[in-house]
This record gives sequence, structure tokens and C-alpha cells, in this order.
Amino acid sequence: MSEVVDLHLHSTASDGETPPERVVTAAVAAGLSAVALTDHDTVGGVGEAMTAGDRLGVRVIAGCEFSVEVWWGEMHLLGYFLPADDAELLRFLDQQRQARHARARGIVERLGELGAPLDFTEVSRVADGAPIGRPHIARALIATGAVASLPEAFERYLADGGPAALPRSLAPADEVIALVRRCGGVSSAAHLKERATPENLERLADLGVDAVEVLHPAHDSHASQTLDQLAGEFGLLRTGGSDWHGRRKTARHQALGAMRVPGVWLDALEARHSSRRPTAK
Ligand code: AMP
Ligand code: FE
Ligand code: FE
Ligand code: ZN
Repeated sequence: MSEVVDLHLHSTASDGETPPERVVTAAVAAGLSAVALTDHDTVGGVGEAMTAGDRLGVRVIAGCEFSVEVWWGEMHLLGYFLPADDAELLRFLDQQRQARHARARGIVERLGELGAPLDFTEVSRVADGAPIGRPHIARALIATGAVASLPEAFERYLADGGPAALPRSLAPADEVIALVRRCGGVSSAAHLKERATPENLERLADLGVDAVEVLHPAHDSHASQTLDQLAGEFGLLRTGGSDWHGRRKTARHQALGAMRVPGVWLDALEARHSSRRPTAK
């Protein structure tokens, strides 16, 4: 039987609902041979997940989901095979978390103006030390009774372009791609959806991105086929995953393992990683 993996997963180390160890337990239950933990702007959950993976016989890849700036605006970039102790990477991630914190304060202020007052301490309590994301703010809004559900929080306030969706300054894609490379990692352009055009893929390949996320809940079969074909055309590797954030499924977040990502895709990423030794600084 061929191996199935999931290369896009979130835990409570960022905006997921499940602690890293239990992400791995769920991977075992789903029959996966390997998973990558790709929390937003942190590798803080990876150690716990790896320890659980060793115990339970599931391979855990150290990953991270970065938010970067490209020519159309924000793009998410997945990094794999990241070192736990690279000073430059950790410094960069720390800056990103500070920017998230500042933006969250701005969002809370805006929510007050919009008639949904929220105490920032409630947001901090929900995030519990994780890099603050809009889902934490959504959960805080549910806790205060301002909204009844996560979809409602996004529809009324937090969705992209919504009244309380403040931007934050993002690092340019080429800098983050280069940073991932310098520490020996491999990068993939996440959930490109309608941005998956030949022009965009060519430019991303020129920036040095290693792979594209072919399988993702937000991609229908046509989008996945297009991406698969474009990956071949531009010499890019393939990744995929469920973007699992916990028990809630949405159009963009599926059940862990649901994307049936072939293990051979991970083998190719690993071969790229092995060919790339961290450069001396
Ligand atoms: P942020 O990282 O703060 O920009 O928030 C983005 C995160 O919010 C994504 O990673 C998703 O987990 C979540 N998200 C974004 N849009 C929606 C939506 N419409 N419904 C539910 N969750 C969403
Ligand atoms: Fe998220
Ligand atoms: Fe994303
Ligand atoms: Zn994600």
C-alpha cells in the first residue's frame, strides 16, 4: 500500500485547536506515515510533535507557514525541514509574531468602533502565547457573545476585506524563500487557487520557490490538475495537505489526512533538502 502524508497542519502552537501531540495522535488514527506541522509564524510546536511522532511511529517534518508579500498582495509560503535552532530564522519569526500582536491590538480597537467591544486580555487568553491570528480574535468574539460562530465572526468582521481585517506589513517573498533555503529548508507556495497562472508560477520559480501546494481543500480537481501540470512545466516539486485547524471543517480547512497526499511527494522534498546544506553565516 502506498504511503499517504499530510503536509499542511496547524496546532495550538498557532491558530489550530489541537495541541501538537494530539495532532500526531490524529495522524496515527488517519493511517498517515508522515505529517508536517506548519503552524503560522512559529516552529514552537514542532518539538512536542516530534517527540510524539517518535513514540507513535509517525514521521514529523518541522514546518512553518509564513505570510509573505508578492505582486498581488499576500501569499502563504510553507517551509519544510526547518532547523529548530537557526538564530536568523528564530529572530525573523519573532518579528512576525510581534507584528501580529500589534495588528491584533489594532483589530480589537477597530472592533470597539464597530460596536463589538473586546478586551485584549481575552484575545491573549485565547491565544495562550501563540502568534495571534484572526481565529483567536474570532473565538474571543464568540466568548463575549458578540457573534455565535467562527463563520459569523469572519463574515461580519474579520474576513479579508472585512471591516476589521487590518493588514500587517509582510516580508517580501524572495527574502523569506532565501531565508528558508539558507537554513537548509524547502519552500512551497500555498493554496494559490485562482492565482495559479503560468505567469505567477514562472515568477515564483524565478524567486527560488521549490514547490507548489497542489492538493488543498480550497482547490477543486480542476485547480489541482492545473497546478500539477504547471509544477511540471516550471520544474517545481509538489506538496499538499488538509490545512487542518481542528474539528471544524470549512471550504479551506479539511479533516486531517483527507487530501490523500502521496508519500513520494515528501520523498522528493526530502531529496531537495538533503542536497541543500545550511550555508555558513
Ligand atoms: P491571520 O493569520 O491572522 O491573517 O488569519 C488567517 C487565518 O484565519 C487563516 O489561517 C485561517 O485559519 C483563518 N481564516 C481566514 N479566513 C477565514 C474564514 N473566512 N473563515 C474561517 N477561517 C478563516
Ligand atoms: Fe490558520
Ligand atoms: Fe494559509
Ligand atoms: Zn494553513
